[in-house]
Amino acid sequence: MGVRLFSDKKRAVHLGPFPLERLSRGEIPDLSAVPEDREVVFASDTPESLLNAMRDYQAMMDAIRDGLVNRTKSKIPDDIAERSRHLKAFCYFNDASMVGIGALPDSARRATAIKNPEIDRLSYDLSTKQTKTLASGIDMIMADLKESMSAPSTDIDTHSSALVILNEAPRAPWQDEPGSGWLSGASLPAAALRASETAVVLANYIRLLGWEARAHAVTSSDVHLGRLGVAAGLLTLESGGLEAPYLGESYGLAAVTTSMPLEHDATLLPKAMQSWARTHGPNWWLGTSGARRSGVNGDPFRKRAFHLGPHPFETLKRVESPTTYIDEPNVARVPKRTDMFARAQFGDMGPALQNGAKGGHYVRKAAPSSAQRRLLGAFVLLQDGPAKPQRLQSDAAKNALAIKAASYFLGIDAVGISRCPEWAWYSHDATGAPIEPPHDQAISMIVDQGHETMEGASGDDWISVAQSMRAYLRFSLLGGIIAAQIRNLGYSAKAHTVMDGEVLQPPLLLLSGLGEVSRIGEVILNPFLGPRLKSGVVTTDMPLAHDMPIDFGMQSFCEACNKCARECPSGAITAGPKLMFNGYEIWKSDSQKCATYRITTEGGAMCGRCMKTCPWNLEGLFAEKPFRWAAMNLPKSAPALAKLDDMVGKGRLNPAKKWWWDLELSNDGAYRPTAKPVNARDIQPDLEVNYEDQTLAVYPANLAPHPWPYPYAMDREAGIEAYQALVTAEEYQRRKDGGDE
Ligand code: SF4
Repeated sequence: MGVRLFSDKKRAVHLGPFPLERLSRGEIPDLSAVPEDREVVFASDTPESLLNAMRDYQAMMDAIRDGLVNRTKSKIPDDIAERSRHLKAFCYFNDASMVGIGALPDSARRATAIKNPEIDRLSYDLSTKQTKTLASGIDMIMADLKESMSAPSTDIDTHSSALVILNEAPRAPWQDEPGSGWLSGASLPAAALRASETAVVLANYIRLLGWEARAHAVTSSDVHLGRLGVAAGLLTLESGGLEAPYLGESYGLAAVTTSMPLEHDATLLPKAMQSWARTHGPNWWLGTSGARRSGVNGDPFRKRAFHLGPHPFETLKRVESPTTYIDEPNVARVPKRTDMFARAQFGDMGPALQNGAKGGHYVRKAAPSSAQRRLLGAFVLLQDGPAKPQRLQSDAAKNALAIKAASYFLGIDAVGISRCPEWAWYSHDATGAPIEPPHDQAISMIVDQGHETMEGASGDDWISVAQSMRAYLRFSLLGGIIAAQIRNLGYSAKAHTVMDGEVLQPPLLLLSGLGEVSRIGEVILNPFLGPRLKSGVVTTDMPLAHDMPIDFGMQSFCEACNKCARECPSGAITAGPKLMFNGYEIWKSDSQKCATYRITTEGGAMCGRCMKTCPWNLEGLFAEKPFRWAAMNLPKSAPALAKLDDMVGKGRLNPAKKWWWDLELSNDGAYRPTAKPVNARDIQPDLEVNYEDQTLAVYPANLAPHPWPYPYAMDREAGIEAYQALVTAEEYQRRKDGGDE
């Protein structure tokens, strides 16, 4: 694990994690001297190779690399430099390692496009696929896919600029480390796959704004990616081939070509012409420019096995059961239909919310999230499927380590494995059919929502929904690959994504040691990522060794801190005690208020203000270690730490990090600067929130809707009464033990 000594708080997002601005640049070299792109193959004869599980996901991205262009152009800045900064920042938000923008010279166009041969097979396989998602428009997604697979919608001859996206490749697995048999030969494909994810989203984004754009990957492309990388100032031609600064040949590429006028970067001078002092001097080693990558903060897996992950989970205290009470035999299973976004969509919460939820309007109203949604929908078609007939691996301990190694290798931020008890499954699926739990093992994964963008955001402004969707999309891709890998080994497995999931994830995160219950309510807080995360779960029948729950002092901390309750714009977070709800002990929030605000707020799209303002939303600096240590080890210090957090201004807006445009979907389909005041909030340290003054509602199993997809009006008065009837875990146990009768 590396060390970060300097904050990046003054560094603009479009500059990225590497100090590329310190490199010397010059004139564009002769591109005809650049060798043919490296071949990257997504298939292997070794049955357990992860490449075989990555294959369909790469093909799916290739299938939708083009698409329809919004007929009405959006209103975006005329300044081409601002456009380039914006698009680069979007790529860095998506975790690209390096991004460059250059011209699209004729010498970088291919005479014959490369087409991934897997697309046709995938198209045939999907034509018979059945899905049962609550997400509206799955038929539209299928129609969209078929159209994209048949013919390109944009004319590349009109494209004049190329955005080149470079992702660092994970190191090659060590010969004897867990999972090495799965990961061998997958480093460059993994980097190319992640670059493709960004390219496909960005191309869709540009088309939604009204300009032509097409994504290009190593497996499907109309351009020479290496030549474009040179033209865009990312790569240099060295004696051994094309190299990226700081990374050498360990990278994967993708590109977006577009007709949108953009400012271009100058090309890089070769290594021999760079000043060593500027590129590798003390500034680089210490990270004084604020760039996250430095000599002392390099690849976390350089000397660490993949299965351990990038964060030191091995240092945490493990306990037999979660730090909050779960009355397992009495947890009430509820239908999928109880999800507040489903209730809004079916009209349970009135017409205003139904309109806000219809067709995923709360996602489509902001352009970045609208761009992410297409790929999210496409991945639903891959998240489940039949297992291969032969079972290849049966050792539970080995399986667990290999699954963790593969998940971290691909880029998941934390993984935990547990049993998947029946009570963690919804009772009925999205169609109203009863669910017979098919799997008893759960692989829980979490994805960081990203500190940098969170710094510039209020949590409930125009980037909020894209922050969530980015993390959900990452799980859909990487969790989906892990599920496919398990099926390739002969076991049943399903990735439960935001679009189609059948398990309640918070209890599984608790069981698998990924966090503890926090005041925010249904958000499980992780000691290294705080609440700034989204989760996903893969369920399976593969034998797996389990992790144990963790105890890092969160219960004492949240008891002493109520910053999220104070800062919640809808007043949905309780300032009171933990109470028993459906068999779980949690700080029960008012999900109705929360969902109502997220769907209907006019100053932004969705909300994650609790995550923004929590003291555990940390940057990951060395200087933050004392806070984390005191928070975990000295429960009595929690009130002082929470106050200190306010005093140092944490949770405030950092304008240096605001890269997105406040565009809103108009009635004609274009995105235009919003006419409404943007939610640009400051923290309110002087505000007092008292539990006695709060009116909260809750809908336990006895107030749950029927399981079918048609309306069931919500009775808020009954919900308020139900909240008032909730009791503490101690009282609940006393009554259970017969103390009341
Ligand atoms: Fe807990 Fe405070 Fe974070 Fe809320 S803001 S989750 S109370 S630590």
